[in-house]
Amino acid sequence: MSGTPSTEPQSNEPQTYQHRWIDGKAIDLPVGKVVCVGRNYVEHAKELGNEVPDSPILFIKPASSLTDISTPLHLPTGQGEVHHEIEIALLVKERLHCADAMDAQWSMAGYAAALDLTLRDLQNTLKEKGHPWERAKAFDGACPISGFVDVRGISGKQPLEISLQVNGEMRQQGNNTQMLFPIFELIAHISHVFTLEPGDIILTGTPKGVAALNSGDVFVAALGNVLRVEGSVA
Ligand code: ZN
Repeated sequence: MSGTPSTEPQSNEPQTYQHRWIDGKAIDLPVGKVVCVGRNYVEHAKELGNEVPDSPILFIKPASSLTDISTPLHLPTGQGEVHHEIEIALLVKERLHCADAMDAQWSMAGYAAALDLTLRDLQNTLKEKGHPWERAKAFDGACPISGFVDVRGISGKQPLEISLQVNGEMRQQGNNTQMLFPIFELIAHISHVFTLEPGDIILTGTPKGVAALNSGDVFVAALGNVLRVEGSVA
């Protein structure tokens, strides 16, 4: 590379991400880490041939994995299948350390729909070797996320459904009553392991139906009846 750097962003360069409400207004919180849970839905653990865990399996995606779900996704190439995992996401507004479920509930700003993009073939190889998963789950753009719905817009009394349609076909559909570790107990548990800071995000696990995304796919992610976002794969 020589000469003047191009002002055109490279397709694989992370876009500048900022937390936003669903109306597009910026949220005045920094962009932090993303804490994720594996196998929080029994049916999904089974579809990958995994044991159901007795404590949450936690991992982190860095802030550089975050990207706006409604801008065309640039998937890594030449490393096998990239799977979609649609998940209910929450945005932290207050610091949480060794919290209980009630504190966890009061410390959230909003809900969103997020994709925990996973290089599945690579993840399987890493698992076999006993290596960490980051190369398969924490790459740039590995966490496309929608705008947030204010927590006050979500009833805690009704099941909260998350779904993903790809090319018009329903691929994943589940709700929080199917979780092994309910949302706020899960967040409280996380806060005993990793202090959660304002602007951090929590992904709460994926229902069954994970499969590959491919170039040209179009998808619709929905959260209850409060959020519906369309996206595509570049
Ligand atoms: Zn996941």
